[in-house]
Amino acid sequence: MSKVAIVGAGVSGLSMANYLEKNNIDYHLYERRTKDDLKGHGFILPKEGIEYLSEIIDIDDLYTKGSFLKKYIHYCHNGNILSEKDLDNVFVISRSTLIEVLSKNIPADKISYRNTLNLTGFSDGKAELEFEDNTKLQADVVIASDGSRSRIRRAIFQDEVMKAVRENEVVNIIENEEIASQIEGNFHKFHHEDGGLTFGVLKLSPTKILWYCQFDTFKYTINENDTPEEIKQFMLNNFGNWNPLVTSIVKESSYENAHIWRVYELEKLNPFHHENIAFLGDAAHPLIPFTSQGVTSALKDSYILTQLLLENNDLQETFEKYEQERKPEIEIHIKNGRILLEQFLLPVSEQPKDSLPISYK
Ligand SMILES: Cc1cc2nc3c(=O)[nH]c(=O)nc-3n(C[C@H](O)[C@H](O)[C@H](O)COP(=O)(O)OP(=O)(O)OC[C@H]3O[C@@H](n4cnc5c(N)ncnc54)[C@H](O)[C@@H]3O)c2cc1C
Repeated sequence: MSKVAIVGAGVSGLSMANYLEKNNIDYHLYERRTKDDLKGHGFILPKEGIEYLSEIIDIDDLYTKGSFLKKYIHYCHNGNILSEKDLDNVFVISRSTLIEVLSKNIPADKISYRNTLNLTGFSDGKAELEFEDNTKLQADVVIASDGSRSRIRRAIFQDEVMKAVRENEVVNIIENEEIASQIEGNFHKFHHEDGGLTFGVLKLSPTKILWYCQFDTFKYTINENDTPEEIKQFMLNNFGNWNPLVTSIVKESSYENAHIWRVYELEKLNPFHHENIAFLGDAAHPLIPFTSQGVTSALKDSYILTQLLLENNDLQETFEKYEQERKPEIEIHIKNGRILLEQFLLPVSEQPKDSLPISYK
């Protein structure tokens, strides 16, 4: 098998590297960030995601680093319960922990940090990639796993339209043993009765919780460069008089690591490959957070692409099969994500009673 260059060491690039490592296919992983820069918050992983992870990592070790959610409890902002549903093996873990776990099996000589790659063109059907110091990279196969704003994808599909989604998020992870024990292993989500504003909280470990708020960008404004103090003010202004659990979390949190997420989606999916480049994870298909399927989809992309690389010698055929297998499912998640977005904007009284914040195909 020829040399594979993977661009981007998020969940998709790292999981692809793990699958290639497991199957003795040569590769090198190039990542823009430094090794220790493990920003990001948490992931909700449905059962299928756990199954794909168990192929490449020590799953019992992973279980000690996150937690399974027992029930999804949906509330009105004043604390009245709207619905309750048991969850089937839904796991929650911080992004930094998952990245760390996935990095463990990658030999140090197969990953280069602080390496940003750009696509400069094609020659004989092969991508020409360039590092920031203008040195060039030649590879037989390129896996572009450089995230939802993929530079490689945008250099090829110059007419693509990235749309701002009418929902943004503030996400935070805090240490608070008392709240962690109070919320137990449940996924609590509060929705403002008028719609377009939610607060969710989950336990990551006996001492750590993850909380997030989702807001309708037509009604609420926050500046991407806001300071921790300004984010706190935004949270107090909008959640200061909700149910006591929400209000106490918002008041007691440290905001040093709170993060504002702008959410974007592609108006229309591009092909998942071009010449000798295949796109993986968010680089192929940014999924909005409502689906909780970004990580699982990235893991599935890596698994299927690796199987096809092992089975086929013809790269174009491999890439076409990869797209045929993955695109229909991704389109379902995109459709479900848009339905969940519409529901989020509705007043609580008009929302379906039994929906989950997860897209199932
Ligand atoms: C608010 C929010 C909440 C979410 N919640 C969930 C959830 O609960 N569950 C879930 O499954 N998914 C969730 N997602 C989606 C999930 O975060 C992504 O689907 C997933 O992280 C995709 O990983 P990725 O590796 O494709 O991309 P990324 O994580 O973006 O990784 C891309 C990597 O490429 C590197 N890179 C970028 N450009 C270059 C370059 N030119 N050269 C070299 N390296 C480069 C970046 O530094 C980065 O490390 C959420 C997303 C958001 C925004």
